[in-house]
Amino acid sequence: MKKFAHFNAKTLDEAVSILERYRGKANVIAGGTDLLGQMKDRILPNNPEALVNIKSIPGLDIITEQGGFLKIGTLALLEDIAHNAVIKSKYSALAEAARRTASPHIREMGTIGGNICQDIRCWYYRNPDNRFPCLRKGGGRCYALDGDKRYHSIFGGSVKEGCLAVHPSDTAPALVSLGAYVQTTKRKIHIDDFFQVEISRTTVLDDKEIVTEIQIPEPAKNSRSAFLKYAFRKSIDFPIVNCAVSVTSAGGQVESARICLNAVFVKPYRATKAEEYLIGKKITKANAERAGKAAVDDAKSFEENDYMVNAAKALVTRAVLSCAE
Ligand SMILES: Cc1cc2nc3c(=O)[nH]c(=O)nc-3n(C[C@H](O)[C@H](O)[C@H](O)COP(=O)(O)OP(=O)(O)OC[C@H]3O[C@@H](n4cnc5c(N)ncnc54)[C@H](O)[C@@H]3O)c2cc1C
Ligand code: SF4
Repeated sequence: MKKFAHFNAKTLDEAVSILERYRGKANVIAGGTDLLGQMKDRILPNNPEALVNIKSIPGLDIITEQGGFLKIGTLALLEDIAHNAVIKSKYSALAEAARRTASPHIREMGTIGGNICQDIRCWYYRNPDNRFPCLRKGGGRCYALDGDKRYHSIFGGSVKEGCLAVHPSDTAPALVSLGAYVQTTKRKIHIDDFFQVEISRTTVLDDKEIVTEIQIPEPAKNSRSAFLKYAFRKSIDFPIVNCAVSVTSAGGQVESARICLNAVFVKPYRATKAEEYLIGKKITKANAERAGKAAVDDAKSFEENDYMVNAAKALVTRAVLSCAE
């Protein structure tokens, strides 16, 4: 690994001022389970010159209900989120998403903040020693476009440049389905506006902005949420497709729904057509299947990843059904 400076920040202000000093050449490090692997493999043309450790700042790992919100500090561990009694009973999509992330070791190190800020997945991009200096790294071409796209986007490329990589987070779709907010050192961002389709960045955070907390509004009494993941291995694997659904019903009919797929596009993909279809309907097998179909209405898959469209359809159908009253 290339040499880098390492700072144990004592406060958020100190962390921000170190980031400011390095002008885009320093990174925050939380659990390090994504970042250190990237640096060891030297996947990027330039590794960060400095890492700012925020684990040395006290109080960033809280999980508490307060003022109508569940507040989860950025350093809360995935394993703690998976087993928290309140999250399991009231925010079940998130507990299940955290439980299905990676392996026990990674969940004991990996944080919720790092999980939503992690970099995209594309095997050309992640190849060691920057062997494929693609568009996303400032190069001239997308290797996936002419290459093997079996795990790539089924909803087209990122807005301007057409990168077909996917966002691999398991907790992100759960947070989208639950309508969460991301509190940073600068502002409060609705989760719908947090992820980025511009090339080279996965979030709207700037170079000196740090996520401090996730805030999830308390769900209505008559609402349910669910998370499902399709991966090749059950023990440890990134999602091929995952899906989170949150539904509020009244008198047996759906009043509101938020449905989010991930690992299918460069950022979490809200299946708005499926949400619209469900409003005013009962959750029956037929309606859940129609919602599943609507979720992939706008899919633009390739021959190699067409199977992901079927997986997405099936996950939406099953997740919606599991939210039936
Ligand atoms: C073998 C393996 C399997 C995995 N499987 C899965 C999986 O199934 N599902 C899944 O979702 N992920 C998976 N991951 C990815 C990753 O480990 C997890 O997403 C983990 O939650 C990342 O958290 P971290 O705290 O370790 O992040 P870090 O590695 O510390 O950071 C990741 C990125 O987020 C930034 N960052 C971290 N915290 C903040 C903050 N507070 N503010 C601003 N930026 C921040 C860092 O600068 C870095 O760019 C896997 C990783 C490995 C190595
Ligand atoms: S899909 Fe994106 S990350 Fe992968 S090779 Fe193409 S531009 Fe690079």
